[in-house]
Amino acid sequence: MDFPSRFDVIVVGGGHAGTEAALAAARMGVKTLLLSHNIETLGQMSCNPAIGGIGKSHLVKEIDALDGAMALATDQAGIQFRTLNSRKGPAVRATRAQADRILYKAAIRHQLENQENLWLFQQSVEDLIVEEGAARGVITQTGIRFNSKTVVLTAGTFLGGVIHIGLQNHAGGRAGDPPSIGLAEKLRALPFQVDRLKTGTPPRIDARSVDFTQMQPQPGDDITPVMSYMGSRDLHPRQIECFITHTNERTHDIIRSGMDRSPMYTGVIEGVGPRYCPSIEDKIVRFADKNSHQIFIEPEGLTTHELYPNGISTSLPFDVQIELVRSMKGMENAHITRPGYAIEYDYFNPQGLKYSLETKHMSGLFFAGQINGTTGYEEAGAQGLLAGANAALLAQEKDPWTPRRDEAYLGVLVDDLITMGTKEPYRMFTSRAEYRLILREDNADMRLTEKGRELGLVSDERWAAFCHKREAIEQETQRLKSSWIVPNSVEAEAINPKLETPISHEYNLLDLLKRPGIVYQDIANLKNSPEQSVDEQVSEQVQITVKYAGYIARQAEDIERLRRQENTPLPADLDYSQMEGLSNEIKQKLNEARPESLAAASRIQGVTPAAVSLLLIHLKKRA
Ligand code: FAD
Repeated sequence: MDFPSRFDVIVVGGGHAGTEAALAAARMGVKTLLLSHNIETLGQMSCNPAIGGIGKSHLVKEIDALDGAMALATDQAGIQFRTLNSRKGPAVRATRAQADRILYKAAIRHQLENQENLWLFQQSVEDLIVEEGAARGVITQTGIRFNSKTVVLTAGTFLGGVIHIGLQNHAGGRAGDPPSIGLAEKLRALPFQVDRLKTGTPPRIDARSVDFTQMQPQPGDDITPVMSYMGSRDLHPRQIECFITHTNERTHDIIRSGMDRSPMYTGVIEGVGPRYCPSIEDKIVRFADKNSHQIFIEPEGLTTHELYPNGISTSLPFDVQIELVRSMKGMENAHITRPGYAIEYDYFNPQGLKYSLETKHMSGLFFAGQINGTTGYEEAGAQGLLAGANAALLAQEKDPWTPRRDEAYLGVLVDDLITMGTKEPYRMFTSRAEYRLILREDNADMRLTEKGRELGLVSDERWAAFCHKREAIEQETQRLKSSWIVPNSVEAEAINPKLETPISHEYNLLDLLKRPGIVYQDIANLKNSPEQSVDEQVSEQVQITVKYAGYIARQAEDIERLRRQENTPLPADLDYSQMEGLSNEIKQKLNEARPESLAAASRIQGVTPAAVSLLLIHLKKRA
């Protein structure tokens, strides 16, 4: 591959956002350069080696439906898989995998190195090339200039990064990596709204110093779930157990005794931390009445002894860390291999972004990942894919792709960030999506793969597999619909014990599947049993679509109603402060957020339905 003199897309940062961005742009056929500090850390998991979980696996499956890297890499690296909420409805069911961090990084790097149209380069980026107000490339630490039509910035926790352990601190992007100071300063000089956030990580432990017999084992699922639609159990490496231990009164006393040297509680750290992933010192303060917290002891991989104690993220001084770790059962002799720490970093108010993730202030410049105020690999990867795809579209002078809230969690994520902004690290939950029944993790391919193909993101191989699956779902649905069971037949006798009331009239298998207590496996082979058994992914789709048909139809109606509003644009020059009837608070929020549509305005916290009606009246008057 000749090294191009000008790229279509340059991606800065090889974390989870950057790698998905670069792969997406390259899959779409444009010349893409991925520039990162260190090729060895491409796809590095900065914190816990796990992918997925509630709300997050929905994003992973969406990335996968668009042919991104994360899900397949998880299947290649996952050492323990579980389905969370397995007894609850399909909308909130989620897949979580503990990953071997070395295998994960290797899987991502393999995809990057074998992607057509993608070049890699190791160097720190220090500045942007700006021409006529548009981003047109980057300049590296040693002064090398790379020209491009667009730039996607995914610098993670590195911009102005400061690492804290107790009252000591030093500049760093994450432990062992340099911060991005030059670039942070350049960006601060531009009209972006910059603020500080913080996140943290626990000390790591040497497994050889831990007594696992004192802990509760936590095995993975017997039937191992698979993360990628293109994945299979055959890809999974050896599966291993995790363990559970607990903090106790003594642990809490030790933590309290170290608070006077905590950077969080002495005001040294100003950035706000993740509410849903609090440090152990936060937990002790916020939940003062609890005398114990569960701690998951998770292996970091198959070829290392390092353990990740999930639940004791901390920036307390190192001597306190040793004591608190050793106060827990099974950890009495624990040896810490790396201290826990907190990191403060710059992020940009995401309200300064368009729905394509291009910045409003500088055309051609896209932001994705942690720098938009989110936390988590999955949130970063999803934004990266979207930003990379839209940068490629812009380079090709095509319209952006902006998934809606009723199409994807990706749409929910971007819309939440843009309409509400965020003052604390934002993570995804299923509760953030109002159309949860439609946005399930099991149907992300049905929702997005066709769109991905249209955009040029989806390979021939995935497209063929998807079309085959879609056809198989249709065929199986038709087969069930046209297979009839009559009362008193052999088939009726077989199914009656599972029914509350026995079959009293002719039934097709599809209607039988709608009845409570009946699952696909009960009816699959009652009649005309298929010669080849139906693939799990196919039977799952058939079952969920049939069982939840009523609820799904109702959500579809709600979506249609909202869509009529969604289509009403709000002109960019609207001066909300002049609008009669709106409260000052709502005027201020609308002026700040500048929503692009009536529906987007309605989702801003505090913007009431009454205020939306006033906006509608105002728009009609203007017309
Ligand atoms: P990153 O993964 O940080 O990647 C940024 C990349 O950009 C790196 O490759 C870096 O080398 C590169 N880069 C930066 N600046 C430049 C430059 N100027 N030139 C070239 N390359 C550059 N998430 C959770 O969900 N839960 C947690 O508990 C959690 N704890 C965390 C604890 C710590 C200490 C850290 C550091 C992160 C934690 N995270 C946690 C966050 C998670 O790691 C991030 O959300 C995720 O990695 C963000 O992905 P990203 O691609 O935006 O950035």
